[in-house]
Amino acid sequence: MEIDNKTIEQLITEKHTIALRRGFSVWPRGEFGKPPALGDFRWTADLILSTWIQAETGKPPTNGLEYRVGASGGGFDVLDFKFLPEDQWITNGNLIDTSISLNGRPYDKKIKISVPWYGGGMSYGSISDHVMLSRVRAAKEWGTYTSSGEGGYPDTIVPYKDNIITQVATGLFGVREQTIQYAPIIELKYAQGAKPGLGGHLLADKSTASVAKIRESVPWVSLFSPFPFHSVYSVEDHKKHLDWIKTINPAALLCVKVSTPTDVDMVAVGSFYAGAHILNIDGSYGSTGAAPEIAKKNIAMPVEYAIPKVHKYLVSEGIRDELIVMASGGIRTAYDIAKAIALGADGCVLGTTELVAIGCTRCSNCERGRGCPFGLTTTDPELSQLVDPDWGMRRISSVYQSFQFQLKDILRRLGLTSIRELRGRSDLLLYNKQHPSNDKYKMKKVSKPEEELRVEESVTDSVVE
Ligand code: SF4
Repeated sequence: MEIDNKTIEQLITEKHTIALRRGFSVWPRGEFGKPPALGDFRWTADLILSTWIQAETGKPPTNGLEYRVGASGGGFDVLDFKFLPEDQWITNGNLIDTSISLNGRPYDKKIKISVPWYGGGMSYGSISDHVMLSRVRAAKEWGTYTSSGEGGYPDTIVPYKDNIITQVATGLFGVREQTIQYAPIIELKYAQGAKPGLGGHLLADKSTASVAKIRESVPWVSLFSPFPFHSVYSVEDHKKHLDWIKTINPAALLCVKVSTPTDVDMVAVGSFYAGAHILNIDGSYGSTGAAPEIAKKNIAMPVEYAIPKVHKYLVSEGIRDELIVMASGGIRTAYDIAKAIALGADGCVLGTTELVAIGCTRCSNCERGRGCPFGLTTTDPELSQLVDPDWGMRRISSVYQSFQFQLKDILRRLGLTSIRELRGRSDLLLYNKQHPSNDKYKMKKVSKPEEELRVEESVTDSVVE
């Protein structure tokens, strides 16, 4: 049956899309308070709602929502900047440069990005091609990149290949000579900070016919990417892998993505001598709801510890300027980016932030085929229609705009003219355990009414007697 040349399915999708977009717009205004049960201590309701405002307006919110920190009581949430007195601020923010280079070596191709971040790997299968398109179009608009993740290129994103980093991960899903030749940057993924040592797992109901085709599998079968590369057990093996990539695409820059074990500094030096241009250190707070909580909370080192460790060791080895260090794993805001850079990173990799921009509420249903209520972490043909790539691109791009604006403001108030001057300036950070936003969300002890306590006491007394 059709109405106005539209099928019933199209009409239902249209109706839901309008309702969802209205929600993303209305909730952050605060007219109805905050949605109950939204967010957690890292991604608080304020952070989610303020990201939605930034996705709409391209600016940080002005209605009192906290947009700089969460309420975890640790990490980036208790760091602050030692801003200069106002009369020493740089007055013209436009002169401030937020670009970074992705190749610090004196040879090989020079690639510069206009903002100190690019999009992290999310595979076709974990997200839909509509979400991939939204991300890569935003990356193109800002002269930066997004990573393919381990799953190959759906046809729709091939025209954007100049802004896509091809990821080669342990399952080699979607990896072909062609996809390696496409890319200006190739990323070898050894581990993910949210689940190091566990590999990746795409559950059967997300492995639809189109996903299975690209991954050269059969539909509705679980796909597992083991940990680690079973052909890499030493730095020499690692070098062989990088050489193999270089043979296929000599012009590409090489990125190595690792998690944050305690010897991550040694890993960094090993990767540099094996030929990497970029090291992506991925800490433990990142990932979507598909990563097991027990792994997220207990295995890798938080990225704010790993960054200074890597930075200082590379400085002591005299190779700091030649290896680009990108930090990821729970980078949520422009302030997180600035703090990561002040701790010693060159830039950051964004993942969840981009999903929040297009409606993610952190409900942790990502692993199921039809689990994501907003059509993000799904390849279901109906649900993925909820994200229109143009709409998604505009929202992600607006968050980029707001982040760049805030970064310039931070630099201006620190008296710096370039984001590159901030790298490793941990002297500009201060530890602020009393950050007001942490107080706001502190768990309160719930006291029971007096009557209830009296009843409990009499019961205890009678048991003791
Ligand atoms: S909204 Fe979707 S992407 Fe976000 S946590 Fe829930 S299921 Fe995952």
